[in-house]
Amino acid sequence: MLAYRHAFHAGNHADVLKHLVFTQVLRYMAEKDKPYTLIDTHAGAGAYALASSYAQKHAEYLDGIGRIWERKDLPPAVADYLDLVQKFNIEGTLKHYPGSPMLADLLLREQDRLRLYELHSSDFRLLNETLGLRPNTQLKQTDGFAALRADLPPPSRRGVVLMDPSYEVKTDYQKVLGAVREGLERFAEAVIIVWYPQVQRLEPKELVDRLKATANSQGKKGWLHVRMTVAAPDGSGFGMLGSGLVVINPPFVLKPMLEATLPWLIKAMGQFDGANFVIEHQGR
Ligand code: SAM
Repeated sequence: MLAYRHAFHAGNHADVLKHLVFTQVLRYMAEKDKPYTLIDTHAGAGAYALASSYAQKHAEYLDGIGRIWERKDLPPAVADYLDLVQKFNIEGTLKHYPGSPMLADLLLREQDRLRLYELHSSDFRLLNETLGLRPNTQLKQTDGFAALRADLPPPSRRGVVLMDPSYEVKTDYQKVLGAVREGLERFAEAVIIVWYPQVQRLEPKELVDRLKATANSQGKKGWLHVRMTVAAPDGSGFGMLGSGLVVINPPFVLKPMLEATLPWLIKAMGQFDGANFVIEHQGR
């Protein structure tokens, strides 16, 4: 039984970083006419009402999208991402936050394909209500790690995978690695975006190191790692201090975009003086 609901966290600092990277990757993919397939292995509900009791419980979005919603001095990539979020809030007040499937819906072209996997029955139902009838789209209430196999390689041999588990179960770290390795065996050119939480445990660091090594041995264009630490440890050993993403076969535009954006973003999102970011990259 899965307890995690993304509605509690929608629009938080981790969503901001993840969706900033995600939207820029999709922008890059759309620069060539040739179609591509986007596979979202852990899709969530698709979109979230910020007035809901879930989102209001800890109001995490206030320390995420809420910190930049009214800013006018936006770096171009943040302006682009905010412009997409604004399409869900046409009256100008921040009431809704799009998940990765709805951002994809805005950025995919007619010729592109969308594959969405979500295990939780309630979130799957919501996802199906919004995107179930979308053309060129397949939704399944199934394990996204396993489903990935059947989707790679994509027919057009251009593909992006967003792997965004909740890490509610510790085995997710191992499953991510296994799915990435198998995915690259089937399709070494896949652009794979893996999100991870920055928590005070060994697993995230081990995962990042292993993903880098996997990209070096099996990928075609190396890797990029970005991490944003926004909160100080509170002494309990629990809590999320920040989050990061490893992008395998990253578009070349990603590193300069992040270098131009993260100094601004960390000032906007940082909750303590030591807030910081890391950008690492290794090309091939
Ligand atoms: N990608 C979404 C976004 O950016 O808007 C958020 C996804 S949320 C962090 C993770 C989701 O994965 C949850 O909705 C959870 O129910 C779902 N989930 C957990 N294990 C799964 C699995 N093995 N396969 C597919 N979905 C899973």
